[in-house]
Amino acid sequence: MDLDFLPEHAEFRKEVRGWIEANYPAENRRKQEAGEHLTKEDILSWHRILNTKGWLSPSWPVEYGGTGWDSVRKYIFSEELARAQTSQTSFGLGMIGPVLYTFGTPEQKAKFLPGTMNGDIWWCQGYSEPGAGSDLAGLSTKAERITEDGKDYYVVTGQKTWTTQGHFADWGFFLVRTDATAKKQEGITFLLIDMTTPGITVRPIITIEGGHEVNDVFLDNVKVPVENRIGEENKGWTVAKYLLGHERSGIAGVARSKRGIEKLREIAAAEPADDTAPLLKDADFRRKIADLEIDLAALEYTELRTLAAESKGKGPGPEASLLKVKGTEVGQRLTELTLEAAAHYGAPYAKGLSGDNSLAIPSWAAKSAPTYFNMRKTSIFGGSNEIQRNIIAKAVLGL
Ligand SMILES: Cc1cc2nc3c(=O)[nH]c(=O)nc-3n(C[C@H](O)[C@H](O)[C@H](O)COP(=O)(O)OP(=O)(O)OC[C@H]3O[C@@H](n4cnc5c(N)ncnc54)[C@H](O)[C@@H]3O)c2cc1C
Repeated sequence: MDLDFLPEHAEFRKEVRGWIEANYPAENRRKQEAGEHLTKEDILSWHRILNTKGWLSPSWPVEYGGTGWDSVRKYIFSEELARAQTSQTSFGLGMIGPVLYTFGTPEQKAKFLPGTMNGDIWWCQGYSEPGAGSDLAGLSTKAERITEDGKDYYVVTGQKTWTTQGHFADWGFFLVRTDATAKKQEGITFLLIDMTTPGITVRPIITIEGGHEVNDVFLDNVKVPVENRIGEENKGWTVAKYLLGHERSGIAGVARSKRGIEKLREIAAAEPADDTAPLLKDADFRRKIADLEIDLAALEYTELRTLAAESKGKGPGPEASLLKVKGTEVGQRLTELTLEAAAHYGAPYAKGLSGDNSLAIPSWAAKSAPTYFNMRKTSIFGGSNEIQRNIIAKAVLGL
């Protein structure tokens, strides 16, 4: 592995850390610490600050707004964002951006890239359907070609589901079936759809912890201009797979989990309000943290090896599946241990008690159960972990 931290990288880390501290919106920080949900505007405020600085999409080619940093700098940057626990940027940026600059026509690049970067266009991903998740190529939302007043359209009808932040979205990237007679993968087309088009209904799905981040999206005779197609008709599967590679590569969350473990250690080391011993004195709890740290260190080195390969021009391959499985498992175990550390403060009724009985519940503990439940999603989305294991078995182990 050829990925060394040089003195200039330490300087770079200092610069990034200082800049984040000085520029991260105080209102986002306050809400996160209080366990409040961030609004679309909150997320966009940070997105826009990063974009103005030119640090929104470090890994993109420089001509499309990338930073031109080497792999080490990109890694340090992602570590510093996680360390400062900054909010996400707008949904889909890292997925549709690379699709646009790789497969888009000059007109599509000009129309969508600037707005995607400056936060004017918020995207959603219309891939999954009630009958097509793991078996995505079995999707049935249909698109029929028509000509009206001399203009060509697709008329799209069907249902998408689990659409993350579809209720925030200005545009969506959708997979639709344009040829029902061809082999499954060969009849799919990739369309960009304006979410304000008549015939689109977005209905919330409330997740187990009570949050609203996913939706059902119904499309009823939605007219989409043919110029909104990415790539050729019936060749959308190639575009879809390319996008999924990018979706999985950032999913390991190593830097986020590292920060999470640091935080867990601080929590476990704190003197409890009663006269019991800090949790970190418990040998069994220490062993659980150590197990997690060992797995995270192994994951980190696997990710660094992947980055080193990428810096030599090798794109994310089946290794992305490995990072996804292990990264999400580590992230989920971290939420389990945090909930264990919260003990009775993590119970669903504890938050209500705080108002009535002035029971001081630290905000990290009040968030621990909702976070635990919410994080169950990570082994399902982006292609479930079982499916990733199938990919690893075939492409890495050759089974
Ligand atoms: C919070 C969240 C956000 C999401 N956001 C989006 C989004 O924005 N856009 C979007 O298009 N989709 C989104 N998804 C959908 C996600 O991609 C699918 O849930 C996922 O692909 C699994 O599909 P499914 O839910 O239909 O489960 P199914 O495919 O029905 O699978 C059910 C179970 O069977 C297992 N299984 C299925 N096939 C196999 C097999 N061949 N071998 C072994 N095990 C198998 C699966 O691992 C799973 O455990 C999101 C999902 C969640 C939970």
